[in-house]
Amino acid sequence: MLDINSAQDIGVPIHTRKAFSKSGIVTDTLQLPQIASSWGRMYQLLRQHFPDDRYHQNKVLTQIQQTQHQVEALFSDGSSHHADLLIGADGIRSTIRNQLEPGAQPQYAGYVAWRGLIEAQDLSKAEQQEILSFFTFCLPEGEQVLTYPIAGRQHQTDPAMRRCNVVWYRPASQTVLQDLLTDTNGNNNGESIAPDRVRPEVVQHMRNDATTLLSPQHNALIQRLDQPFIQPIYDLTAAKMVHQRIVLIGDAAFTARPHLGVGITKAAQDALALAETLNNNQSLSSALNTFESQRLEANRTLVDQSRELGAYLQAQRLSDSEKKHASLHRTTAAVMRETANPDIFH
Ligand SMILES: Cc1cc2nc3c(=O)[nH]c(=O)nc-3n(C[C@H](O)[C@H](O)[C@H](O)COP(=O)(O)OP(=O)(O)OC[C@H]3O[C@@H](n4cnc5c(N)ncnc54)[C@H](O)[C@@H]3O)c2cc1C
Repeated sequence: MLDINSAQDIGVPIHTRKAFSKSGIVTDTLQLPQIASSWGRMYQLLRQHFPDDRYHQNKVLTQIQQTQHQVEALFSDGSSHHADLLIGADGIRSTIRNQLEPGAQPQYAGYVAWRGLIEAQDLSKAEQQEILSFFTFCLPEGEQVLTYPIAGRQHQTDPAMRRCNVVWYRPASQTVLQDLLTDTNGNNNGESIAPDRVRPEVVQHMRNDATTLLSPQHNALIQRLDQPFIQPIYDLTAAKMVHQRIVLIGDAAFTARPHLGVGITKAAQDALALAETLNNNQSLSSALNTFESQRLEANRTLVDQSRELGAYLQAQRLSDSEKKHASLHRTTAAVMRETANPDIFH
């Protein structure tokens, strides 16, 4: 296994969650010790243990072919590679899944996340004490803002170098979404938008809303985000994870909405389960069957749970039973307890 032992190594420790009212008063607190990591920090820790000569950057997989005896990956530079087994960990827009199960497509959840980062040194002393060390929440009607500390640009975890991660979930119908995704040149790819292409008036509109909807503390952070970016929220469930000699893991097979904070752990659990079953001296096909039976149900459950947590943020109308479930997950106490709670895996 990898030599990453200390919890401190992985990110920034947080002990307490706090919810702020619109007037800026702390209305709830919850003691919930955890470590907040970040994509960059995880990548750095894992990458330094992976041999350079086996890590091929700038290779774009375009197609796969398989027979009973082998699988072949074809790349955009004309190269190809044969193997006994191909593991598709190519994310929510997976080329591999698209080829094997084209019907499994990301479903837009009906809301977006506005996101951004602020350096610790750009926060006032009061903000550093009141916000930076905590997981904080503010819950305007049908919306949700949260902040938590993550490691600095160079992955430093000491308090002076950390950054505050700001996420604001806002309902957006398909029509609103398409307007948000239309860039400064009038272009729209229908799915995402580069941070530097978001139209200034769209950002200004969001900042104006922050002044009327959010606590003064969260509003101040939103006004200061340098280049806030928009992440439409999608989820996805595939019917299968194993297709003969090809296995889908992580977001390529199941993408949960971000509220549970399980995306990375879920992908790691897939990888671990696959490694363990392959090491069990079974034939390849029975190892892959065992793997799929272990992971399909667990992943489906996580996607369903994340849908329930996010249902109250959706722009689209809910059925009566969805409304009932959504109402269970929209109270301050429930949001604080259920969001990215590490105990979900215990
Ligand atoms: C708003 C938001 C907040 C989130 N917060 C959290 C959180 O707090 N905690 C958490 O655990 N998770 C979080 N997630 C989810 C997390 O980011 C994903 O679950 C996780 O990154 C999935 O890992 P993956 O390796 O399966 O896919 P990815 O991280 O998407 O990696 C896929 C890789 O495949 C590569 N690739 C794709 N297509 C090709 C191709 N054709 N050829 C070659 N390479 C290709 C991509 O470049 C990429 O490097 C969040 C997600 C969102 C949207």
